[in-house]
Amino acid sequence: MDTNQFKGHEQVVYLHDKETGLKAFIAVHDTSLGPAAGGCRMWSYNNEMEALTDALRLSRGMSYKNAVAGLKLGGGKAVIIGNSRTDKSEALFRAFGRMIDSLGGKYISAEDVGISVEDMEIVAKETRHVAGLDKGAHASGDPSPFTALGVFLGIKAAVKHKLGRDDMKGLRVAVQGVGHVGYYLCKHLYEAGASLFVSDINKDALSRVEGEFKAKVVDLDKIISADVDILSPCALGAILNDETINLIKANIIAGAANNQLARDDHGKLLMDRGILYAPDYVINAGGIINVAAETRGEYDVNWVMAKVEKIYDNLTVIFDRSVAENRPTNHIADEMAQDIIDKAHALKS
Ligand code: NAD
Repeated sequence: MDTNQFKGHEQVVYLHDKETGLKAFIAVHDTSLGPAAGGCRMWSYNNEMEALTDALRLSRGMSYKNAVAGLKLGGGKAVIIGNSRTDKSEALFRAFGRMIDSLGGKYISAEDVGISVEDMEIVAKETRHVAGLDKGAHASGDPSPFTALGVFLGIKAAVKHKLGRDDMKGLRVAVQGVGHVGYYLCKHLYEAGASLFVSDINKDALSRVEGEFKAKVVDLDKIISADVDILSPCALGAILNDETINLIKANIIAGAANNQLARDDHGKLLMDRGILYAPDYVINAGGIINVAAETRGEYDVNWVMAKVEKIYDNLTVIFDRSVAENRPTNHIADEMAQDIIDKAHALKS
């Protein structure tokens, strides 16, 4: 396994429940800022080591995302090994809920790839350390509109920094993936006067944005190299890699997808090409901010909006520092996150 992925993790738990077949890892990366929060992913990993590596990498990413978003939450992640279409059962999610409960609140779970709100409602029967629910007095519901709003504000910050403009009128934006987040993002961009170019493997999702926002459909393999001002990856991870970076014509990359850089040093390649990259975990924090509101025990949309609006300021600081220090934006963001965590850790100890 990739032992480099162990980076200051506080605790990693493995559960194999023979009765239900549940095999899962929970990785608690850091709790200096508060309980470790991060979604649960269900995926057909080839083996336990692959799943552990993912849990370690993703939980660290959550520490950074939560820190820069100004949340009193640490970073954690759970992964369940299994096929999300065929391996789900009530018993399995209840066993997973008991696993979370045994950590006594150190880890708070929510939905991620392969996990639905319904699954989390089952988990919630065994533990209260779950968020992202639809029911209940303080349920936060679908996080996607908040993620999309944060991405829209992040795009505005990038446009201001790179193009010196406060408005989006006539700017050409390519959106890869018009699912939950991509749809709401297209709505904001259209209302702000941008021209949209979209791709998706789902024809219904494409028709919707074509019809509602006059978006032009682009072939799947042409969206990265589209002749646009802004490229907004809202589908897949690792989309910025050795093959794609040289094809990009956009001046700005700002989208919702997690882990957009295939490797850390791709941030430097983008900088060298003069492309402004909005670090993914900074710009896409709107969803976790909304989920965090639920963990406070009292859902308050004004609290959520104030934090989502701060994404504009956070990115402006990162962009300015990147220019002043001649360093890639992803390195500046990582450093900012680590600083916040280190300060909280020092205060605690
Ligand atoms: P989603 O599944 O609703 O949408 C993703 C869309 O991408 C789908 O319509 C899918 O058909 C499309 N797609 C898949 N493969 C594609 C390809 N090769 N080319 C073009 N389109 C493709 O997911 P979502 O909730 O909208 O999330 C989008 C991205 O943002 C994901 O990477 C997710 O991890 C990240 N994200 C989402 C949230 C949130 O609040 N939903 C928060 C933070 C990060």
